Amino acid sequence: MTKDIFAPIKSKKKGKPLYKMFIDGQWIEAKTKETFEVSNPANGKTIAHAQTATIDDARKAVKSAFDARKGLSEMYAVDRAKILKKAAELLMEHKDEFVDVIIAESGKPVSVTEGEVKAAAERLMYSSEECKDIYGEEIRGDMSPHKTDKFAMVIRQPLGTVLAITPFNYPLHIAICKIAPAFAAGNTVICKPASKNPICMIMFARMMELAGAPKGSFQLITGGGSGIGDFLVNHPNISMISFTGSTSVGKHIAQICGMKKIHLELGGKAPAIVLNDCNLDIAVKECLKGALTFSGQRCDAISRILVEKGIADDFVKSVLKEIKKWKMGDPKKKDTLIGPLIEKKAIEKVDELVQDAIHWGAKLLSGGRYEGLFYEPTVLDRVTPKMRIAWEETFGPVVTIIRVDNYEEAIKIANESDYGLDACIFTTDIDKAMDAGMRLEDGTVSINASPSHGLGLFPFGGDKDSGIGREGIRHSLLEMTKVHTVIFRKTYKPEK
Ligand code: NAD
Repeated sequence: MTKDIFAPIKSKKKGKPLYKMFIDGQWIEAKTKETFEVSNPANGKTIAHAQTATIDDARKAVKSAFDARKGLSEMYAVDRAKILKKAAELLMEHKDEFVDVIIAESGKPVSVTEGEVKAAAERLMYSSEECKDIYGEEIRGDMSPHKTDKFAMVIRQPLGTVLAITPFNYPLHIAICKIAPAFAAGNTVICKPASKNPICMIMFARMMELAGAPKGSFQLITGGGSGIGDFLVNHPNISMISFTGSTSVGKHIAQICGMKKIHLELGGKAPAIVLNDCNLDIAVKECLKGALTFSGQRCDAISRILVEKGIADDFVKSVLKEIKKWKMGDPKKKDTLIGPLIEKKAIEKVDELVQDAIHWGAKLLSGGRYEGLFYEPTVLDRVTPKMRIAWEETFGPVVTIIRVDNYEEAIKIANESDYGLDACIFTTDIDKAMDAGMRLEDGTVSINASPSHGLGLFPFGGDKDSGIGREGIRHSLLEMTKVHTVIFRKTYKPEK
């Protein structure tokens, strides 16, 4: 009989697993024994319980992370790399368990979930290699007549403790995109996953433990953000906050965190500009992929399509044909592309935006209905800038089409958004592609492709209300280290 490696991380409550937290190298329950339910969005059933951490639990985690700093920063990079690599291997060994849990707690279709787990393991692997990329520079003083006898060694040091606060939509991958580079750089890490679906990250903490992460170097704390969030964010022994989530919570964190480094990955309202000269087949398929993957519950989802009027009728016709392939159903089934939304509040918000658009004259061409948490893939044509759906984050499976007179009008509407995370353009005109690449006010502009960030090979992040900072291989490492300068004075002069 094979041993269940997840046995130490849980007990039982009302016939369901009760998961513990990983604090100070131990699997523990919340001090008050308070717990919360985690349910399956596809059927509303409780699948597990998790701990509601108290401020005392959070304090214990911060102390342990602080105490572990010296050991981790002095650990050879090659040994930190081995731990990350081992965690990646363990994750892949247990990928089926992770896939099952993510589907159950998030309602994410199996094909998207498998991609998430694989990308998370690959990101761990990349970060293990990044351990060798922590280097600075040497600067000579002899450009100044007063500094000819000096030179400086500029080195990169870990910050101390990184607090990773993560959202529900890519519960494993987004957390690992923070934890892996932070650990690679020699920081201790405390992770607080979303309370809607924390189980996969609790399981990942077990991977880090088994991979040999020293006591206190990685910790996992669960519970609602409003309970322990302010305490952690505000704590002087947290050196950096790496937050991914809504713009409202991000702004709150920025206001209360005090003097510490902050990285914010927030909401988005990605425009796709579709020009008369585009390859229609590519534009339609990419726009649907961008709008509908994981039911549009992505910060980089295409949530307004600005189509030039010359191609608009053909584009809409083709969208209506193609959208039939987006089958809604049980997220566990291989051919399902649209699963449930995460919670009732989310579905109500999507429907509110759709109804508001219809009220102001938009044409509902497909979908627009829901049952339970399943919202049909929906097409809204003739949306105008006076409708809320043109500006507010949708986070639902809605293809929102705004017809524009020309390229300049598309750029204008695209840039009028408060958000600035992602944008894309479909055209065969290289000049317009280049122009849009430079002028769109978003962190990333994709040409003839929908936004997609996966591994973090290219730097990713937002401007305006979409955030501060950039994530990605190398970029996260730079953000999670500090520059430390050592100046040498040359006193020895050889005899002439
Ligand atoms: P959310 O803001 O509700 O929650 C995110 C995290 O913040 C959770 O762990 C939550 O518990 C925690 N939190 C809540 N209040 C807090 C507080 N006062 N202090 C500290 N932590 C607190 O977001 P969500 O609903 O889980 O995720 C959806 C949002 O995330 C969308 O707006 C989406 O655009 C955004 N998102 C952005 C990116 C990006 O890279 N820019 C990626 C994914 C998701």
